[in-house]
Amino acid sequence: MAATNYSDAVRNGVQAAGRLQRDLKLRDQIQAEPSAVDIFAIIAQLDLPLLVRPLKGLLGAYVDVPSPGILVTTERPLSIQRFTAAHELGHRLMGHRPSLDDEEQILRRGSLEELRIRDRRDGYQEAEADAFASAMLMPKWLIQLHCGRQAWRIDDLVRPEIVYQLSLRLGASYEATVRTLERYGMISGANRIALLAVPRRKLKVTLLGDFRPETYKGNVWVLTERDDGGRLDGGSNDHIVVELQEKGSAGFLWDVRPLSDAGFTAISDIRSGVEGDAVGGPYLRRILIAATETSTENVTLRQIRPWQPEAAIDAFSVRLDFSGPEAGGLSRAERRLRLGAA
Ligand SMILES: [Zn+2]
Repeated sequence: MAATNYSDAVRNGVQAAGRLQRDLKLRDQIQAEPSAVDIFAIIAQLDLPLLVRPLKGLLGAYVDVPSPGILVTTERPLSIQRFTAAHELGHRLMGHRPSLDDEEQILRRGSLEELRIRDRRDGYQEAEADAFASAMLMPKWLIQLHCGRQAWRIDDLVRPEIVYQLSLRLGASYEATVRTLERYGMISGANRIALLAVPRRKLKVTLLGDFRPETYKGNVWVLTERDDGGRLDGGSNDHIVVELQEKGSAGFLWDVRPLSDAGFTAISDIRSGVEGDAVGGPYLRRILIAATETSTENVTLRQIRPWQPEAAIDAFSVRLDFSGPEAGGLSRAERRLRLGAA
């Protein structure tokens, strides 16, 4: 039913996202391989043509001539490209008119009064597409799934470094994640203001320690054994801090060579004692690596004695795809589908 006010528009968008998630059994899929919602794969699965290309002044568009299709700009980070693609899919699934969407429209920038005027003018279709995109990419169950895997409790969601890592696993921007947490009542309005006041660059600087990258545009992931069995989708400017517990005294060390085999560049590898200065560990090992355009691989790390490589006491596997943001041409989802079919 066409919305005549903002809350109806939100309800319509949320319902359309819920329907699609049920039809695609998305929850089962993500429980099998925890990750962000692969919106580009979903669009490919729905046979809706999607073109990624440089767009002047627009983040994306939904067109219906000669036939329905989606355009997404190359000029933004992966999180914004994903949100834009979901917004345009919302237009398609809710039977909207074609829409050329700039940043104001997709990110709902403007005062409450400006938004109210725009919503009335376009018949709430932008509000519907926005609610669809948020509910599609950041459903409450997905936030709970990632928090459960990482052992983050509700009180942890006021900590910017935790919200940042959550946003990476949702494939959403930090800001969108904060706003969504507030909407679900998981943080307060005061928490939202405090979280949004933290410069993202500061979070990255802290994680990178002494290392100074050329730019701070990329993200910094903290990867641990808790990410076992999951898939992480990042960008080729990103860095990853791999944090692993090591039982040094018994001679067991994590073999991290599979990371360089997968195309990541090692920057530093530091061990520090945990639980005081007890001689012989355990140790916390912190490895900093940089993604490159070729870093796309299943990686399995094993904790072994170097002289007994067959007898691992611990292992974990992750699928790492750090080829984003989406460049022109085929989306990574389509590349994956084609590789799978080959
Ligand atoms: Zn739109």
